[in-house]
Amino acid sequence: MKTVSAGFVEASIQGLRLCSKIQLSGHYSYAAEHRPLTMRILVTGAAGFLGSHLTDRLLTEGHTVLGVDNLSTGDLANLAHLACEPRFQLEQRDICSPFDPGHVDYVFNFASPASPPEYLRLAIETLRAGSAGVENTLEIAARYGAGYLHASTSECYGDPLQHPQPEDYWGNVNPVGPRSVYDEAKRYAEALVMAYHRSRGVKTHLVRIFNTYGPRLRPSDGRVISNFMMQALRAQPLMVYGDGSQTRSFCYVDDLIEGIFRLSHTAEHLPVNLGNPVEFTILECAQAVLEATGSRSELCFGDLPQDDPARRCPDIAKARTLLGWEPKVQLKEGLQKSLEFFRASIGS
Ligand code: UDP
Repeated sequence: MKTVSAGFVEASIQGLRLCSKIQLSGHYSYAAEHRPLTMRILVTGAAGFLGSHLTDRLLTEGHTVLGVDNLSTGDLANLAHLACEPRFQLEQRDICSPFDPGHVDYVFNFASPASPPEYLRLAIETLRAGSAGVENTLEIAARYGAGYLHASTSECYGDPLQHPQPEDYWGNVNPVGPRSVYDEAKRYAEALVMAYHRSRGVKTHLVRIFNTYGPRLRPSDGRVISNFMMQALRAQPLMVYGDGSQTRSFCYVDDLIEGIFRLSHTAEHLPVNLGNPVEFTILECAQAVLEATGSRSELCFGDLPQDDPARRCPDIAKARTLLGWEPKVQLKEGLQKSLEFFRASIGS
């Protein structure tokens, strides 16, 4: 285990943002679990895209965060602004080996490769993160009586035959296709989380995350928004896989984190979809990126990856009712908000 403390990477101190405590009365309809006002929280995958945004949010709420990351796909730059934050500590370690972080009140498990090229490259590591890694982190929650929220995925629905996808749709997954290393790991992880809830009484939560984007989405990780943004800003052709008629629904990261934060306070143990229900074809997504960047790049077309889902769109009725949650940032605005990050990434 390696501890990375203040000064672990060149940092700019941005100072603590003002604490914005969640309103438990008022317009949120969900029931709060009883937890201390300020908690010591374990965030796995803290150096990743979502893990780092979640860490920021938890610190803003006044909590203390122990981040864990093996840096296989995470990036220390995502945490650089926290280098002098006394309530944050990062340990470089792999959750696939058992570990004891000391007492924690809550565990957010966000450690896994998540983009298709990365989980294909790290096939066995992805399966291990979704099995041994999830079990190790559940053991921590069980030991300390901590709450537990696992980052699951819309990939549990595979190439869905039902649109939009509600949580009670069981999916259409190829168990031996190339994507199965991710899909089946995440499905097994959901089963494991439910087993720890049912058999060991752990207060678990499962969020099924649909395509999400925003600052810190790694420019080289191969996802459609990061690829298109970088290609557009470099005046290169935007490479559309297949004919671009496949659809996705894109959620801006701040909206997603808000939904996750709210879910973590509920007593709901079954999966909850979080994503933006506005569906775009990949051709429309390319067009949106061209408009946001002002780029005059052409489109070019490549092979559609095997088992690439033809349509994906979340049914978020459950999140609306349970959390009073609705995405606020639509694609056009979200791409604008992400522009500066991708521009700054061009030189690096
Ligand atoms: N895609 C594309 N060009 C790219 C990257 C992805 O056309 O450079 C397509 C991909 O085939 C898929 C969609 O965009 O249909 C979303 O892909 P992504 O890798 O972002 O995530 P997925 O939703 O497949 O997990």
